[in-house]
Amino acid sequence: MSKDERLRGYYNEQLETLTWEEKKQVMEDQLQQAVLFAFEEAPAMREKFKAAGMGPDDIRSLEDLQSLGITPKAQMRQLQQASPPFGGFLGVDPGRLRRIYSSPGAIFDPEGHQADYWRLQGVFFNTGFRPDDRVLNTFSYHLTPGGLMCDEALTGIGCTVVPGGVGNTDTQVQLMAELELTGYVGVPSFLLALIERAEQNGRDFRREFHLQIAVTAGEMLTDASRSRLEEEYDLHVRQFLATADVGAIGYECGEKNGMHFADHRIIEVVDPETGKQLGPGQVGEVVVTLLENPVYPLIRFGTGDLSYYEETPCPCGRTSPRLMKLVGRVDQVTKVRGMFIHPSQVEEVIAAFPEIQTAQAVVGREQDRDTLTFRAVLAQPSKPEGLATSIQETIRNLLKLRADVAFVSEEELQESEKRILDIRKWD
Ligand SMILES: [Zn+2]
Repeated sequence: MSKDERLRGYYNEQLETLTWEEKKQVMEDQLQQAVLFAFEEAPAMREKFKAAGMGPDDIRSLEDLQSLGITPKAQMRQLQQASPPFGGFLGVDPGRLRRIYSSPGAIFDPEGHQADYWRLQGVFFNTGFRPDDRVLNTFSYHLTPGGLMCDEALTGIGCTVVPGGVGNTDTQVQLMAELELTGYVGVPSFLLALIERAEQNGRDFRREFHLQIAVTAGEMLTDASRSRLEEEYDLHVRQFLATADVGAIGYECGEKNGMHFADHRIIEVVDPETGKQLGPGQVGEVVVTLLENPVYPLIRFGTGDLSYYEETPCPCGRTSPRLMKLVGRVDQVTKVRGMFIHPSQVEEVIAAFPEIQTAQAVVGREQDRDTLTFRAVLAQPSKPEGLATSIQETIRNLLKLRADVAFVSEEELQESEKRILDIRKWD
């Protein structure tokens, strides 16, 4: 199959190409039903509403959601232990579930009997899988939902799945070759490990294997890994984002310019302190509300992932906004002048300048205003002209903040293992 064919079409043309305003209307109608169901059937959700002094009628729009508190993933274990097994968030009797998983952190995740329960079918079609693909699925098939979640979505769109699971590298290489598999689902590093094993065994991966498409999740797909897979092995590589709690969150389309919000859920990017929705380009926590889920009516589930979105039109024609990248986890952020910054963003600035050996962002406070100073240690003692200015511009682009730049020696860095040092004192 050509790469062009993988880019053609939409899984759900009617839904994906509605204008964003029209789509919001659809989501708001579904939201009202989801809220009503959660309030009536899930005791923990009902308590949330009561705590906020609200009833189901108070949430009619996406904006109204902001009045309701977030349920953080980090609290889920505790909530489930206090009210087993699902913390009061389940909308049906546990006996009505299809499966129960246990994901990292010992959190129980329910799965209902509905077709395409995790809403990954559209995600896999839109990332490029087609019914003729024979796919090696290397996510785990036990305890956590990853393997079965992907399996059912792929078979749902008509693919043939080889349930590879985790490990067994040699066997999986053999399956890939002998069954002439065309697709891969899993973490990017395991695909690279499979290719390397094939090459160690004297195989020419590009000529002797039939792999065309790799769709990855679960760990960062670095630019280097992606270009290696694309250029050296001529693969069509896309990413998606999903969790064991809520299933699909986002996916890359043909344009590879961020992850479109998945359908049948509401995605918000919010200020982790206040829960207020943030605008395009602002880093915040990804919060998910499930729509059309009559089993696990999560309203405002905090994933703990930090990201930011853009809503500029995508040339692919899909109208949903796009999560641009995962920045890190919410427990590692520092708030500076209303913006959240994460150590990985400081790493990005460092990586953009070969002249910088190491650096640290220092957050201070002067006259009731946050200050941000980027303290850089140069690899060479001589300071190239204009370097401070171009570092400032990069920081403005990546962190959306104005910073001072200071060049220091390595000894002058305090707690140099920290990428962000917060020296503000609050009285
Ligand atoms: Zn697109």
